[in-house]
Amino acid sequence: MKLTGQNFIGNHRSELGDVTFQAIDPTNGERILPLYYEATLTEVDMAIQKAELAFHQYRGKSGKEKALFLEQIGVEIMELGDALIKRCCRETGLPEARISSERSRTVNQLKLFADLLKEGSWVGARIDTADLERQPIPKPDIRSKQIALGPVGIFGASNFPMAFSVAGGDTASALAAGCTIVVKGHPAHPGTSEMIAHAIQNAILKMKMPDGTFSMVQGPSVEVGMHIVKHPFIKAIGFTGSFKGGKAIFDAAVQRPDPIPVYAEMGSVNPIFVLPGALAERRDEIAIGLVASVTLGVGQFCTNPGLVAFEGSNDGLKFQESVAEQIKKINTGTMLTSGIQQAYQKGIERMRKQKGVSVMAQGIETESGFGGTPYFLQVDSENFVSNNQLQEEVFGPSTLAIAANSKTDLLEVAHKLKGHLTATLYATEEDIKNYSDLVSILERKVGRLIINGFPTGVEVCHSMIHGGPFPATTDSRSTSVGTTAIFRFTRPISYQNFPDNMLPDELKEGNPLNLWRLYNGEWKK
Ligand code: NAP
Repeated sequence: MKLTGQNFIGNHRSELGDVTFQAIDPTNGERILPLYYEATLTEVDMAIQKAELAFHQYRGKSGKEKALFLEQIGVEIMELGDALIKRCCRETGLPEARISSERSRTVNQLKLFADLLKEGSWVGARIDTADLERQPIPKPDIRSKQIALGPVGIFGASNFPMAFSVAGGDTASALAAGCTIVVKGHPAHPGTSEMIAHAIQNAILKMKMPDGTFSMVQGPSVEVGMHIVKHPFIKAIGFTGSFKGGKAIFDAAVQRPDPIPVYAEMGSVNPIFVLPGALAERRDEIAIGLVASVTLGVGQFCTNPGLVAFEGSNDGLKFQESVAEQIKKINTGTMLTSGIQQAYQKGIERMRKQKGVSVMAQGIETESGFGGTPYFLQVDSENFVSNNQLQEEVFGPSTLAIAANSKTDLLEVAHKLKGHLTATLYATEEDIKNYSDLVSILERKVGRLIINGFPTGVEVCHSMIHGGPFPATTDSRSTSVGTTAIFRFTRPISYQNFPDNMLPDELKEGNPLNLWRLYNGEWKK
């Protein structure tokens, strides 16, 4: 397909503005054609108005119709073929194998939400039938279920150009919930975004979904995004990116005359605790795995392990040496954007200047476009617990070792942690018995606890929680990966004493959709 650089205002293409930008090849800094038109605020308004109008029709489509629409988006993405993979690799510097597998993940994510809709019980139907004889007052008939919130604003992420971008998890879950969406494409991969938007538009036309179900506006300035956040028709926001961006959007959303929920997934350093039994048993194996996880995708994963804590015994020190040896073997890699590269370099400089921090090892410096060289830093637990800056995410291929003098000091490290997406324990069975208090501290800090596995690699499934307490996200009650993500874009409503023919199908007495429902306190079909 020929790229046009235009914005998608529902099914209509538009280029009203005169500000343009281009994708940059991160391997050599060259600009990539075509020119992209930053959306004007008029265009953003038009997209949101269409989303509001379309919402009334789209939310009334059956679960099956929405499911077929999501599946069709997947079909259309696959039909973009190699051209999509090539464009995405060029815009991101990521290797073809990674982008191909991300495309599969994106399509499978759409299919998983489609399956959820076809089964249908996700709406959480609850029914309490009337009891007119009840004393002292009769009991009314009350029935509840989840309904869609309204048009949703979605910010594509830079580091997952497909799975967390235009047709990523936020899009799949919001469309599954019955919301229409206005996506702000990430300016680092506008061509990939345009191709995926084209696929969604094709699916809308083929499946006869209303014009305005999906729009995408592009542009490198924050005004475009902020206009979406502040628009009265927008009822929720999905975001993945920096703490600075996510917090600014959250603050703007809560200051609206009608505040709206913002589901921002921001920074996380994903602490790893290597316990004494595991250190004694397999420290070199853990060191190899840790360095592979830290440097995977040049460290540009929100689940990248940025802290590794252990007791600084003889085994602990040997583990540290082993990690250092592995880091020294890894080449500089190409980062996604010059902004991310500069933020990484500044982050490493900031960490090096902190009290008690030393550099244990660095990777091989090679010419690599927007290059990020791996770093392994070290600090003792005393300095770590007294300095909050050491918990700030350095987005890239680095990790900080924390050597604790004792179990008490290791637990103090855990106590000091802010909210993160994940925490990992490397442990033997004996360690798990001896450190149950560590697990209970970490339960209050993260959205996902892992034993003997690294946090990179987030399974898309029904039970995944990719979230966590602030500052990892702006709402610890939610996940941005997995089918539970749908509830970010719904709210419960109850219907009291409605006649059967006026109830939604999910709540009708005869259960025509054959759903699992909580019927007078008992789960049944
Ligand atoms: P970002 O700067 O947070 O940008 C993400 C999206 O939000 C972009 O579309 C950006 O638009 C928009 N945005 C940012 N600040 C905004 C504001 N104040 N108002 C309205 N919109 C705003 O993230 P990035 O460009 O992907 O990477 C920068 C840094 O984010 C990285 O160095 C890293 O620290 C972090 N990051 C974290 C994750 C994670 O998974 N936790 C993922 C990616 C990046 P504009 O580009 O137009 O400003």
